[in-house]
Amino acid sequence: MRLSFERQLIADYGRKLVQSGLTTGSGGNLSLLNREENLIAIGPSGIDYADVSAQDVVVVDRRGAIVEGRWKPSSELSFHLALYDQRADVQAVVHTHSVYATTMACLHREIPAVHYLVAFAGKKVPLAPYATFGTPQLAESVKKHIGDSNALLLANHGLVAVGADLPQAFNVAEEIELVARIYYQACSIGEPVLVHDDEMDRVVEKFRTYGQQDNGRK
Ligand code: 13P
Ligand code: ZN
Repeated sequence: MRLSFERQLIADYGRKLVQSGLTTGSGGNLSLLNREENLIAIGPSGIDYADVSAQDVVVVDRRGAIVEGRWKPSSELSFHLALYDQRADVQAVVHTHSVYATTMACLHREIPAVHYLVAFAGKKVPLAPYATFGTPQLAESVKKHIGDSNALLLANHGLVAVGADLPQAFNVAEEIELVARIYYQACSIGEPVLVHDDEMDRVVEKFRTYGQQDNGRK
């Protein structure tokens, strides 16, 4: 089986996506790029992630042609491809309809620096204007608005998170959902006090070396 490691990861993280409440049923999608083989493993379209096994994950080339797999790939394949073309640092894409991030996307509101954890995306989470799901227009819009952010809101749709690997992209989706929830709650009580721009510069810089970047070795 081609890309067996990547296909198993997509199946595992698909289940994690549903279990963690970041999406429901077949909503959202995930992919993983193997830059050495220049191939992408992406979830199948319209199949509940709870039921997706490694064999159900589709392997495509960088233009989206199917290399292996029995199902149609995710309808959002074109924005996954666009993100890999646009960003040399990205090897994984996670798309969700997580409730609080999507709430902000339905208000056409970016998520500002309401909490320092927005640094998982950057200094804010930008917003891409509405385009129909699964269209080249949406892929263009995603490509145009991602910039150097690790997350992007899709108007009236959801969230896209990217990372160097799948655990990273998943983590971005989870943390940004938390920040979106905090933003929603803060707005419902009053006017959130934002973290200053120069402080966010420091936090974003600190995030570059946060955690066990060297596998914990000193
Ligand atoms: P797929 O089931 O085709 O991946 O579509 C789900 C989705 O979220 C579309 O935006
Ligand atoms: Zn979607």
